[in-house]
Amino acid sequence: MFYKSTRNSEVKVSSAQAIAQGISEDGGLFVPSEIPAITLDDIKALGEKSYAERAFFVFSKYLTDFTEAEIRYCVEGAYNTKNFDTDNIAELAHLFDGTYMLELWHGPTCAFKDMALQILPYLLTTSIKKLGVDKKVVILVATSGDTGKAALEGFKDVEGTEILVFYPEDGVSAMQKKQMTTQEGGNVGVCAIKGNFDDAQTGVKTIFTSKETADKLAENGMMFSSANSINWGRLAPQIIYYVSTYAQLVADGEIELGDKINIVVPTGNFGNILAGYYAKHMGIPVNKLICASNANNVLTDFIKTGVYDRNRPFHTTISPSMDILISSNLERLLYHLSGSDDAQIREWFGSLSKTGRYEVTDEVKKAIADEFYAGCCDDEQTKACIKEIYDEYSYTCDTHTAVAVKVYKDYAAATGDKTKTVIASTASPYKFSGSVLAAIGKDTNADEFGLVDELAEVSKIPVPASLAALKDKEVRFTKVIDKADMKDYIYSALGI
Ligand SMILES: *Cc1c(COP(=O)(O)O)cnc(C)c1O
Repeated sequence: MFYKSTRNSEVKVSSAQAIAQGISEDGGLFVPSEIPAITLDDIKALGEKSYAERAFFVFSKYLTDFTEAEIRYCVEGAYNTKNFDTDNIAELAHLFDGTYMLELWHGPTCAFKDMALQILPYLLTTSIKKLGVDKKVVILVATSGDTGKAALEGFKDVEGTEILVFYPEDGVSAMQKKQMTTQEGGNVGVCAIKGNFDDAQTGVKTIFTSKETADKLAENGMMFSSANSINWGRLAPQIIYYVSTYAQLVADGEIELGDKINIVVPTGNFGNILAGYYAKHMGIPVNKLICASNANNVLTDFIKTGVYDRNRPFHTTISPSMDILISSNLERLLYHLSGSDDAQIREWFGSLSKTGRYEVTDEVKKAIADEFYAGCCDDEQTKACIKEIYDEYSYTCDTHTAVAVKVYKDYAAATGDKTKTVIASTASPYKFSGSVLAAIGKDTNADEFGLVDELAEVSKIPVPASLAALKDKEVRFTKVIDKADMKDYIYSALGI
């Protein structure tokens, strides 16, 4: 197994190289040269195993240049009850008949990003060691709220690394901001930018692929890498929970081995749902991958029409981690669906950066329609959905997850499809207490910690210890900069 660039199929690197580098020099994303297959027997056997063992199995298919001992070191370091508040690592809750909530937020920062970012530091430092690179790794992160904190928590005080996070000043929840600005650790930096997530992401990508900055870092014994889902080391761990969930549903007798399931994912950068696509093509029986968006519905339109057009207003919503108009990981999907046609990808993504728009071929449109369904909802519909689930099933879900539930309900009503369905629940409701309480019709005048106490009463979900502890933490990072000044901030933070 090796990894190619979506913009140059001739590139051929090991998984360690792909993870260490983060993004290809040509601006493309690394993809596996083939999608490894697993059998139904494999899946059945996984049903008896722990999450860490399931992770070991999946990683050993993708990280073929890692030794068994290296993979074990990574999965055991990440997926344990020191980091997660449940033995199962990811929990499956029943919602309504045939529908399961895959709770991916039992990690230290209460969002699904922990599933990958708890292990990425292990994968990355192991990769660096394997490659014999003697440089400090500087992790640059653009975040719409959750990745930043999860990456900071994963990388804090990890030897040989330094992490710098950029978030949109007005684009994250009060709790998300608090989580990031109070971050501890001697190798961390956090900075707000005047702009939205796309500005932050574009800024980071530009700095990453700039020769000038690469040279400057190299002169100082440093190199960049990425903790965003453009890094294969972020994506591979996300495949695991879909494989694991299917194995669990079989083991629990909820489905028969071989039965298809739908997977619904509240989507932003297209990383999480793409992991579902990889799981499907490895051999997990999946009927539809259902892509749920908020009012920033560029993906809904794309999946329905084959035209990607980011020339539209950017909406700041109550599901901020999905406020994205440029979904990076779509590039990986299109590379696979176009038969690894790197010239085609260069054309489409060149057009995206020049005009903000591209249209895929009829063949690719058909492939997308076969695999995906897409829908979206606005904030009012999201809130109504939170209230409905709360009233009917006594289940409190966060604003992102509610978008997925709403889109799934619309899908089920429109198609009559009765296939059992797994809905990715991507954040703890406590990260968005204000919006969740408002949706349920409660008072929201308190500060973010007062809201947490209120939500505890309403939801009966224990308050995550990591969020409660923020109350007494000192704010360490207050800098707000123009997006044009990101490079200067980085140089100054690194002291170069
Ligand atoms: C990041 C995030 C998403 C979007 O996931 P992508 O992989 O970017 O599509 C959805 N919900 C929450 C809570 C998130 O943090």
